[in-house]
Amino acid sequence: MRVSGIYVHIPFCAKKCGYCDFNAYSGYKDGTKARYVDALCREIENFADPATRVPTIFFGGGTPTMLSASALNRILATIQASFAVDQDAEISIEANPDDASPEYLTALREGGFNRLSFGVQTFNDRLLKMIDRIHDGDAARRAVTTARIAGFDNISIDLMFALPRQTLADWETTLDSAFALDIPHLSIYSLIVEEGTPFYARRERGRMTFPSEKAEAAMFGAAIQRAVNAGYQHYEVSNYAKPDYESRHNQIYWRNEEYYGFGAGAVGYRDGVRATNICRPTRYIETALSGGNLTEESEKVSLADTMGETIMLGLRLRAGIDLQAFADRFGIRMEERYASEIERYVRTELLECTADHIRLTQRGLFLANEVMAAFLP
Ligand code: SF4
Repeated sequence: MRVSGIYVHIPFCAKKCGYCDFNAYSGYKDGTKARYVDALCREIENFADPATRVPTIFFGGGTPTMLSASALNRILATIQASFAVDQDAEISIEANPDDASPEYLTALREGGFNRLSFGVQTFNDRLLKMIDRIHDGDAARRAVTTARIAGFDNISIDLMFALPRQTLADWETTLDSAFALDIPHLSIYSLIVEEGTPFYARRERGRMTFPSEKAEAAMFGAAIQRAVNAGYQHYEVSNYAKPDYESRHNQIYWRNEEYYGFGAGAVGYRDGVRATNICRPTRYIETALSGGNLTEESEKVSLADTMGETIMLGLRLRAGIDLQAFADRFGIRMEERYASEIERYVRTELLECTADHIRLTQRGLFLANEVMAAFLP
C-alpha cells in the first residue's frame, strides 16, 4: 500500500508579522474563508485514493485556528473519507495561543486532532510586540493549560531566537519559561530575516538591530544545552522532544518521503515531482471551485537532486543518514558516491561516521548549512 503524509495549508492570519515570508494573509472576510474551506475540500476529494495509507496529517499556515473548529473538522473529515488514514495517525494543527478557548480546543480534539503546536516564539512581552505577535506570554501559558484540559497531551511550542535586540539573558528566561510548562516537544528556530519582508527593509535602513552571529550561536548553544538538561532529546537541528514525542509528520520531510500538499501555496512531493499550488487564496478558490488546475509550479526532481536533498534533509536529524536505507533507495552507497565530501568534513570534524550512519558532529550543527550545501549538485 502506498504511504503518504498530508499537509494542509490555511493561509489566513490576524495580522502579518514583519518577518514573515510564508504564504499568509490578513484581512480576508469570513465569506472568503468559508469559500476557501469549500475549495480545499474539493481539492482533497479530487485526489481521493482509499488505497493510500496516511500516517500523519499536518494543518499549518498561516494560522489554521483563524478558521472555526467546525470548518477545520470538516476538512479533516474530508481527508478521512478520501484516504486510508491510520487509526493512530498523528494529526497536528498549528494554533495561535489567543485562539485557545476551552470550547474551541475541545471541539478540535473531538474532531480528531491529537497534536497541537502553538506559535509562542518568546515569553517576553516586549519582544512579542516588537515582532508583531498579538498574544502575550501569559496567553501562551494559559493556552497550554487549556489544551491539556481539552485532552491534548501531545503539545509542542515554537520558539525563536536572534530576535531584534534580544539578549542571551532574555533568551534563557524564555527557555526556562518553556521548560516550566513541561510540554513534550519544542521547535526552536533562529529568526531569518528574508529579503522582501518589512524587517529586512528596516534592518537595511539601520532601524532594526539584531544579535551578532556570535550572539546567535551562543543562543543556539544555550538552547541545546538547556533543553538536554531539562530532559529533552535534541533529535533534529531545530527540534527537541521527550521520549516518543518526536514529530512524526516532520520526519516524512526529513527522510525526503512523499506527501500531499493541499491548499493555497501548499507544496506536495509525489512520484519524484515537487508541485506548488496557486498561492493567492482568491485565485486558488476560484480555480478549485471551477475545476481548474491548481498547480502553479511543478518540477521533476532529478536523481542527483533527490540524493542531494535526501542527504541535506537527513543531516538535520541528529541520528543522521541511515547508510543502508540510502543504498537500498538509490542503489549506490553514500560513502562511495560522496567520498570526497565526506572525507573533507570528517577531517574538519563537522561530520562523523558511526557503524551505520553519517551525521553532523556537535560542532557541525553550528555550520550545518555549509555542510549540507556541499552535497547538492
Ligand atoms: S502568525 Fe506566522 S504565518 Fe502568520 S504572519 Fe505571523 S509568522 Fe506569518
